Amino acid sequence: MTAVSNIYPTASLQAIDAAHHIHPFTDTKELNEEGTRIITRADGVWLTDSDGNRIMDGMAGLWCVQVGHGRPEIADAVHKQMSELSYYNTFFKTTHPPVVALAEKLAQLAPPHMNHVFFCSSGSEANDTVFRMVRHYWAQMGKPEKQVIIGRWNGYHGSTVAGTSLGGMKAMHEQGNMPIPGVHHVDQPYWFGEGGDMSSDEFGIHVARKLVQAIDEIGEDKVAAFIAEPIQGAGGVIIPPETYWPEVKRILKERDILFVADEVICGFGRLGTWFGSEYFGLEPDLMPIAKGLSSGYLPIGGVLVSDRVCEGLIDKGGEFYHGYTYSGHPACAAAALANLEIMESENLIGYVADDIGPYLQQRWKALGDHPLVGEARMVGLMGAIELVPNKGDRSVKFAHEGSVGTMCRDLSFQNGLVMRAVRDSMIISPPLVLSHEEADLLVATTKKTLDATY
Ligand code: PLP
Repeated sequence: MTAVSNIYPTASLQAIDAAHHIHPFTDTKELNEEGTRIITRADGVWLTDSDGNRIMDGMAGLWCVQVGHGRPEIADAVHKQMSELSYYNTFFKTTHPPVVALAEKLAQLAPPHMNHVFFCSSGSEANDTVFRMVRHYWAQMGKPEKQVIIGRWNGYHGSTVAGTSLGGMKAMHEQGNMPIPGVHHVDQPYWFGEGGDMSSDEFGIHVARKLVQAIDEIGEDKVAAFIAEPIQGAGGVIIPPETYWPEVKRILKERDILFVADEVICGFGRLGTWFGSEYFGLEPDLMPIAKGLSSGYLPIGGVLVSDRVCEGLIDKGGEFYHGYTYSGHPACAAAALANLEIMESENLIGYVADDIGPYLQQRWKALGDHPLVGEARMVGLMGAIELVPNKGDRSVKFAHEGSVGTMCRDLSFQNGLVMRAVRDSMIISPPLVLSHEEADLLVATTKKTLDATY
């Protein structure tokens, strides 16, 4: 079979794409002028475009390709599964071997108190599931008035109606009259951008206590859950001050409120642990997962559920009227199993925790000396650099927010490295299989791009 990329030149593909394809998170009108970048192949940490250029995938796709691109083990596992059982559902008392094996595997990898998983196809669906699960749980526990879910400003939990509402992206809220009722937002632990004169530790406590204020305002008897990413990803790799999570944990323990740790980005090795909750010592009741679960080879997500919540959902629950045609799709489950097998056999968690993580972090943080950089931060293989007009004063912002970030992102792509711009910060989240030489190149290309932007 001939690949489309081989029969159409770049310009015609771009024209057809602009004419017919509505892209996510894109001003599609701009595509008529600039054209899309067409990626035709990928292997390891490298992308190839339709003109034959090689570009380093500094974002692991969309924070998901943990084991690198083009792994034949996953393709083979999916092919084998599709040849045996390409589709069957998990509704109405049916199941199949790959989904059973994956559920067992996830129970082994998850924190000891989380032994159950509900499957879906994406992080957004996982968070929609969370929305219904926590409300249903409290109803089953005899507290149906516990309905409100507290999220954080600038958090990201997906693009469905519940995901957008739980997230705190104001530009998303403006489209479609979000959030839906029953969702409340508190401040994010973004010391660099919002810490004012406070030390990072003071700010961590200060912002954590906004949660107490919100709970008191809403009424503890009405609050069902608090949802947060261990490190906010799409919000700009917001690494909380060290004081933040212990204080939030203390507050949630004192109050009768479920904790949802959104592990869609932080899960599956990104921080050098299986889950971000493990890195920060969190004890969530629910963990939405997706992305790295299958390294993006096929779409699969889920919600890991604690034994405590399962008591309400399963023991007291009756039928949970919720599910997706592709909940636990056999080929996607096979892809996830093959992906987890690679992660284990290549010890990618250990590699990020003790080897490539510290190696890249040290070099990345040294970029903090650049005159355009206000802060360079990284945990595991997830980092950001804050671009500033005045290095001495982080309160001074660029005149047009986002313009310098966008310019830097575009230059980086021309220099052969995919980075993401969030406001005026540059984000990196490469595949976990990044080698030392590739890490050196990533940092050298970032430096070259910063020099050209300055
Ligand atoms: N939750 C978090 C933390 C995410 O970063 C994302 C996507 O980036 C989602 C949920 C939504 O996942 P999906 O795009 O698979 O629906």
